[in-house]
Amino acid sequence: MLDKNQGARLANLWDDAKASAMSEPERLLYRSNLLGSDKRITNYGGGNTSAKVIEKDPLGAGNVEVLWVKGSGGDVGTIKMDGFATLYMDKLNALKGLYRGLEHEDEMVGYLPHCTFNLNPRAASIDTPLHAYVPKKHVDHMHPDAIIAIAAAKNSRELTQQIFGDDIGWLPWKRPGYELGLWLEKFCLENPGARGLVLESHGLFTWGDTAKECYETTVEIINKAIAWFEGNNTAPAFGGAVKPVLAPAERRAVAEKLMPVIRGMISKDEKKVGHFDDSSAVLDFVTAKDLAPLAALGTSCPDHFLRTKIRPLVVDFDPANPDVDKTLAGLDEAVAAYRADYAAYYERCKRANSPAMRDPNAVVYLVPGVGMITFAKDKATARISGEFYVNAINVMRGASGVSDYVGLPEQEAFDIEYWLLEEAKLQRMPKPKSLAGRIALVTGGAGGIGKATANRLMAEGACVVLADIDEAALAEAQSELAGRYGKDVVRSVTMNVTDEALVAKSFADTLVEFGGLDILVSNAGLASSAVIEDTTLELWNKNIGILATGYFLVSREAFRIFRRQKAGGNVVFVASKNGLAASPGASAYCTAKAAEIHLARCLALEGASEQIRVNVVNPDAVLRGSKIWTGEWKEQRAAIYKTDTEGLEALYRERSMLKLSVFPEDIAEAIYFLASDMSAKSTGNIVNVDAGNAQSFTR
Ligand SMILES: [Zn+2]
Repeated sequence: MLDKNQGARLANLWDDAKASAMSEPERLLYRSNLLGSDKRITNYGGGNTSAKVIEKDPLGAGNVEVLWVKGSGGDVGTIKMDGFATLYMDKLNALKGLYRGLEHEDEMVGYLPHCTFNLNPRAASIDTPLHAYVPKKHVDHMHPDAIIAIAAAKNSRELTQQIFGDDIGWLPWKRPGYELGLWLEKFCLENPGARGLVLESHGLFTWGDTAKECYETTVEIINKAIAWFEGNNTAPAFGGAVKPVLAPAERRAVAEKLMPVIRGMISKDEKKVGHFDDSSAVLDFVTAKDLAPLAALGTSCPDHFLRTKIRPLVVDFDPANPDVDKTLAGLDEAVAAYRADYAAYYERCKRANSPAMRDPNAVVYLVPGVGMITFAKDKATARISGEFYVNAINVMRGASGVSDYVGLPEQEAFDIEYWLLEEAKLQRMPKPKSLAGRIALVTGGAGGIGKATANRLMAEGACVVLADIDEAALAEAQSELAGRYGKDVVRSVTMNVTDEALVAKSFADTLVEFGGLDILVSNAGLASSAVIEDTTLELWNKNIGILATGYFLVSREAFRIFRRQKAGGNVVFVASKNGLAASPGASAYCTAKAAEIHLARCLALEGASEQIRVNVVNPDAVLRGSKIWTGEWKEQRAAIYKTDTEGLEALYRERSMLKLSVFPEDIAEAIYFLASDMSAKSTGNIVNVDAGNAQSFTR
């Protein structure tokens, strides 16, 4: 079996009733989305589809043949109509006369824009010739694990012949590009009966006269491969399990300890976000006898290694005698050795015009008995890199089970990784946002200021964990922010900031979800109002508990992580004007807020030597969206100032020096400033955001 979770056959999802009402381009879109919706057929962003369609030429009265093909970037599973490039077939064919041979094939990419049909702004990808020159109306190029397992086997050609006969041909490895397009054309002309071919170390090409025929051929061929592996790959995967699997909670505990330390080591130039995967496919691999030799061979399909680097770092951890401290003690050396190895690979393979060496750190970290950790510049990339390595594991499971698995030759891998066309793509990427790769935890994250802060930090590229005691509001805030910024970048934890164990667990969850922590925004609050003789001990303790003890507990946990991570850190306290200015009838609240501010100063002093900054924002009278400013407290404050609750906002505004209301977004802006590198040289500071209040002038 190729994978115990993925052994089932693919279903034929083609719906004639739906498809018959569609235009030819719409049927191409339909087919692409069907294929891409199953990761067994192709990985995220991998593969492409095309159709050659007769269209009216906008430049003349006649009809012309137009190639519709997945454009540069994008993913067949989620592509929309505007994701396809459209090109004149006659112009694409005319390019053959300009081709100067293999050494010059990259220059052909520059001609593709000249072939654009109908001013379509979608750029054509380097795979365009692979579709243009196959003399068939419809072409699919997919990266199915079951086919790559054949393509990456030592006797790939024989296996292909044995499984598919003359139905499916075989071509040796060739980097995608113009030359490969010509190879495909030649193959089709010489083998008119073939319905597709396996490309060594890469994937599958299939074709047909109609969209439906092409789709069904793709599904049929992949199913045939899956069935063949089921019947023939019966040996224990990867030489069989030789190490135990830790229990789920223990696996998370190990990941929690390793992730921030690894992150600190590899985030010197660019902050990284982590992803942890302990699915059964991964656990089978990281407990197996052949883990080390197979991991060292590197991944085969170019799509896989562009995302994962050519090989992973296997962490020295023995699940039979778990000793995380010993593993941590050896990590520095292991990470350094990986970097040195990568630099040596770069030096061995570089060419005169190769781009400079990129980040030499590993992307994939395999931990025996525990799972796989991946790190990348953002959460989605880290998750997708993990998914790609799972594809690679599936491929190795298949190929090594029926033959010998072979990775791509090193120089070929290098030439793809440092391909000038690939480099140009990277150079075109937008500049990272100011908080890209940063991980923040915001307490009181479901309330007005907390949610506005999370929103502000996420808008700048941060990943955010919302912590709040109110589970319903928390779920709502998470789904709102996920809708705006994507599910990958926001998590939530139920946290009572006065519960020591719960605080520790929330931070541990943050580490496993994102791999580390850079920013703590301590914002959870409450408010109470009572003159001193009516202040009960319970009320006093409640204020001190949440506003002083709670801030202490979350800061202590953040500091512990910052020190392990060794990459600085940032704490922002949301205090109050009342921490500086006495206010009538609120002694418990004001005293607790003053304690908070002094705690921040103490922590600024303690953290400075390790680049841990601690600053305070002092809001005043932020009523809108606040959970504090509801019910009793609002009425109490209104009574003290002899107004009603509606009059309160106006009263605070008039009382301010600037005569302005203060909103959650105003506080969030100050928090963002203190949490970002814009304030890199500030610590122990207080920023008042209170529309001006002379009583709370700090100096
Ligand atoms: Zn491909």
